[in-house]
Amino acid sequence: MNKNIKVGIIGAGIQGVSNALFLQKKGFNVTIFDRDNPGTQAASYGNAGHFSPYASVPLNRPDVLADVPSMLLSSSGPLALKWNYIPKMIPWFVRFIMNSTTKNMMHTAKNMHQILDLALPAYDELFDEIDLEGLVENKGILYIWNDQDLKSRELEINIRNELGVEQQLVNKAEIHDLEPHIKPFYHAGVYYPYARHARNPRKILLKLFDLFLKKGGKFNKVNINDINFDGEKPVFKTDNQSFIFDKAVIACGAFSKKLTDNLGERIPLDTERGYHVHFKGCDHLLNRPVIFSNRGFGITPMEQGLRVLEQLSLVG
Ligand SMILES: Cc1cc2nc3c(=O)[nH]c(=O)nc-3n(C[C@H](O)[C@H](O)[C@H](O)COP(=O)(O)OP(=O)(O)OC[C@H]3O[C@@H](n4cnc5c(N)ncnc54)[C@H](O)[C@@H]3O)c2cc1C
Repeated sequence: MNKNIKVGIIGAGIQGVSNALFLQKKGFNVTIFDRDNPGTQAASYGNAGHFSPYASVPLNRPDVLADVPSMLLSSSGPLALKWNYIPKMIPWFVRFIMNSTTKNMMHTAKNMHQILDLALPAYDELFDEIDLEGLVENKGILYIWNDQDLKSRELEINIRNELGVEQQLVNKAEIHDLEPHIKPFYHAGVYYPYARHARNPRKILLKLFDLFLKKGGKFNKVNINDINFDGEKPVFKTDNQSFIFDKAVIACGAFSKKLTDNLGERIPLDTERGYHVHFKGCDHLLNRPVIFSNRGFGITPMEQGLRVLEQLSLVG
């Protein structure tokens, strides 16, 4: 019955393609739109490759507010802001602060935990249909730090315990056992044994996208400028074409805001920009992703080498 229902998805990143595959399973007739070919320079190509179902504690929480001023003043800290972007960010920042109470933090963490708990089984369902050829490793993910101030980490660790997230606090010797090539400058860490990592997020995306096409999905390489409605039906607008659907999914990642704003959905979304560099031929030096948590960067062993990522910089 669903096959008569046409769904248009904007965005061929991992979100758009995964949504498309699940909708196809339910029998919907799905078309994906993207201004680029899947797997080009979007976040689904350049990310850290973490499958991190433990990541339910939000960034906005009571202790972060106290840390922000010192983070902003430190050139090597994890938070960098373009000062001329601040006026534009004020409405977002006000909501960020309002949601940093313990009650709101716990509300987000509990709901995120429920969603994230479904993530690995959902990926498994999709991965059962493609040949991953060693593209996903099940070796956990390790966070380490080299300062002794445990306050904010204690908060995260306690919340995860409360939510029932599997985590292991690791000392120097245990970190060394897990990652013998890291110089022992660290103080301690947390290890998430059931987390996974992708050795090439782009290849995984392309395999899933091929599966979508094989199952009869359609792809249209165009930029969607706007969405409006013909009665109840969403209409996607390009410079010179219109496409009408029964249902729409906006999966444009960081670029979703323009379309959702036009629809009157004032989602308080701002972007976190990230970068990576590859150190070719060095991936054997790490067994799993390692995040240097008080330094704002992480390293993931990938097919291209060691992928080093800057993380957590809030910019425009
Ligand atoms: C440096 C960095 C590291 C990250 N590491 C991780 C990680 O380890 N694990 C994790 O889970 N997440 C990570 N993330 C978050 C990551 O971005 C998401 O998990 C995921 O890749 C987002 O996928 P997406 O499909 O939502 O967005 P994207 O991959 O950004 O895809 C959006 C697509 O929409 C298209 N698009 C946008 N606007 C339009 C339009 N108007 N018309 C047509 N097409 C349009 C774009 O071309 C793009 O292909 C990281 C992000 C960054 C920046």
